[in-house]
Formats: sequence, structure tokens, C-alpha cells
Amino acid sequence: MFELRCKDVGFDCPGLVRGVTKEEVLKQAAAHAADVHSTQITPEMAAKVSTLIREQGAGGNGATS
Ligand SMILES: [Zn+2]
Repeated sequence: MFELRCKDVGFDCPGLVRGVTKEEVLKQAAAHAADVHSTQITPEMAAKVSTLIREQGAGGNGATS
């Protein structure tokens, strides 16, 4: 599980986006940015954002699909 805090990206926003993969988080973050902040995620921004995504629940919760 990965998560991204909107405020880490630079918005004054309590938004938290979660996903199973970084791609999923990015996708949801892009939707959130468009929806809530009327902001388009550029490829440069996506690259920056992906460095801000944190892995959650390291250690044990092995989800296999
Ligand atoms: Zn936000």
C-alpha cells in the first residue's frame, strides 16, 4: 500500500490518496488535483509527486493477487 499526502505536494489541503501501487496513487492524485485543485498533473509534476509517495505497512501484510 502506498500513500501520498496532498500537502506534501505543496497544496494547503488535508487530502490523502492511497493505492496498492504507486501508479494507482498517481492516478488518484491526478484525479484529486483536477477535481479539488483544478490542477493538471504534468509529467514533470508526476515525477516529483512519485518521489513523495510513501510506502505504507512495510512488514508483514503480504498481499498477493
Ligand atoms: Zn488536495
